[in-house]
Amino acid sequence: MRQRPRGPAARRSQLNAASLDVVVLGAGPYGLAVAAHLRGRGVIARVFGDPMSSWRDQMPIGMFLKSTPSASSISAPRRGHTLGDYCAATGIDPIVGYRPVPVADFIAYGCWFAEQIVPQLERSRIVRIDRRPGGFEVALDSGEELAARAVVVASGAGEFAHVPPELEALSPDGPSADGPLSHTSQHRDLSLLSGRRVAVVGRGQSALETAALLHEHGADVRVLVRAPGCCSATARRTSRARVAGRCATRSPRSARAGRWSSSRTARCSIATCATTRACA
Ligand SMILES: Cc1cc2nc3c(=O)[nH]c(=O)nc-3n(C[C@H](O)[C@H](O)[C@H](O)COP(=O)(O)OP(=O)(O)OC[C@H]3O[C@@H](n4cnc5c(N)ncnc54)[C@H](O)[C@@H]3O)c2cc1C
Repeated sequence: MRQRPRGPAARRSQLNAASLDVVVLGAGPYGLAVAAHLRGRGVIARVFGDPMSSWRDQMPIGMFLKSTPSASSISAPRRGHTLGDYCAATGIDPIVGYRPVPVADFIAYGCWFAEQIVPQLERSRIVRIDRRPGGFEVALDSGEELAARAVVVASGAGEFAHVPPELEALSPDGPSADGPLSHTSQHRDLSLLSGRRVAVVGRGQSALETAALLHEHGADVRVLVRAPGCCSATARRTSRARVAGRCATRSPRSARAGRWSSSRTARCSIATCATTRACA
């Protein structure tokens, strides 16, 4: 059991108890938006998290957002912090209309938003949150403990990655990016599977995006789904990928130009390496 801090750390905790209204856990789009609005209203808050970390670490390089540019801005209490404002401020080509938003640009936008409007962001991890009279006690990985009237948790969905138990036997040590079984959230650089035969289990957005990127990287991809018809209406709508046969494909050039194509059906074969994503 962890020892509660004594001496200076305890005094710091008492000080914080007197002054802190809110702790925000998370520095993704929602944590940053909450922090920005709290600050805009003059609420005293401390914000913890690694800005845009799940977008950087748990999504593949080369991915495009499914939300349109106009639906991809982080909410702020005042003008000047939309995705369009970021493009104008940094001099990159405007990302407008139905042009797909590259994940790298969205990550950079989130970090820019944090610098502009949540400069007090702290990168410590929160390791414990306990109820206490009148609020919460929050422990950081630095050993600091602080008290707050309210805690806003915006930790994202990263902890909810699910690998169907039926596949667990493929990898007794558990899923990993370089093992025979992995979850899509474990892959950042899909070029590592170039030339491999890969089965992608599922037909949601992550599955189809991963399959398309793997195909672009020269992997031999098979998409496995448990219901007839490869692509749900949602996946078709959100990815704007037209799907040919059983596998989604797109050419990098047409994707960059904002067009998706069914240039050819990827050749499918038996998997030696499975990338899994639970299907809804
Ligand atoms: C493949 C994929 C594609 C997607 N495409 C889109 C899209 O196109 N458009 C869209 O709007 N949404 C999209 N989403 C959904 C989007 O990722 C989430 O809705 C969004 O990121 C949630 O934001 P968030 O701020 O709650 O969490 P996240 O962005 O996941 O951020 C979590 C934050 O919490 C921090 N954190 C976690 N635990 C702790 C801790 N213990 N202590 C301190 N900090 C902690 C992390 O460092 C991070 O800063 C997509 C999701 C996936 C998986």
